[in-house]
Amino acid sequence: MKYNLHTHTKRCNHAQGEDREYVEAAIKAGFKALGFSDHCPQFFPGTEYYSYFRMRPGEFDGYVNSVRDLKKEYEKDIEILLGIEAEYYPKTYDRFMEFMKPYKLDYMIMGQHFVGNEFDKDSFYAPRPNLDESLLDRYVEQVCEGLRRGAFTYIAHPDILYYKGDPGYYRDKMAELCVCAKELHIPLEYNLLGVKNNKGYPKPEFWKLASEIGNSVVIGYDAHTPEALLDDDAFFQCALNLNAMELPLTEYSNLKFRKV
Ligand SMILES: [Zn+2]
Ligand SMILES: [Zn+2]
Repeated sequence: MKYNLHTHTKRCNHAQGEDREYVEAAIKAGFKALGFSDHCPQFFPGTEYYSYFRMRPGEFDGYVNSVRDLKKEYEKDIEILLGIEAEYYPKTYDRFMEFMKPYKLDYMIMGQHFVGNEFDKDSFYAPRPNLDESLLDRYVEQVCEGLRRGAFTYIAHPDILYYKGDPGYYRDKMAELCVCAKELHIPLEYNLLGVKNNKGYPKPEFWKLASEIGNSVVIGYDAHTPEALLDDDAFFQCALNLNAMELPLTEYSNLKFRKV
């Protein structure tokens, strides 16, 4: 059964198309379930800071209502889920969860684009190339801590951190991340957008490791346009890559949605 839980909307300022167009593309492509997981608001302590690549807090109601309305309208054709893609920022996590709680979201996925956060000086944008072992340590520690909080359904592009140092060190550290996810029964996402756009991830060395450790895997389209959902070639490329590494895809019915 075809499904995708990683779908953005134009509210994040770097995706295009109407919410309805994503649903219609998903139906056309034969998806049985489509989860919206746009870049949700993050909160920053005592500052006016705003992430330009996420929706603002004031847009969140509109997002929720739109997805819920579509869920009803299209219930005969497809299962629509209301989710978010969120960072795990330890300092603001409680406030963040307090904000999210009343919405009763179906799920959230972790998209850890920063080591640290966006407001402390010693923070780091994860996809930027680096040789620093301590960043890798912090990334793995932060991701595992976030997963242990129990609210993330899966981890998007777990291999987004671009570490260019010692491959042995990378392997050892990422093994910790894979083991942690496995123990918590949290799947890792093989990111279709990364495959399509040659983003530097998925990294073969990471997935080889995940295969040895026996992680469960989902393919996430990370759709930023409705048309992205129609890209069967990219999906088959992902499926082929995973098959070659003997990484089986998680069935939709085996996904464990964790309440936010
Ligand atoms: Zn995005
Ligand atoms: Zn995303």
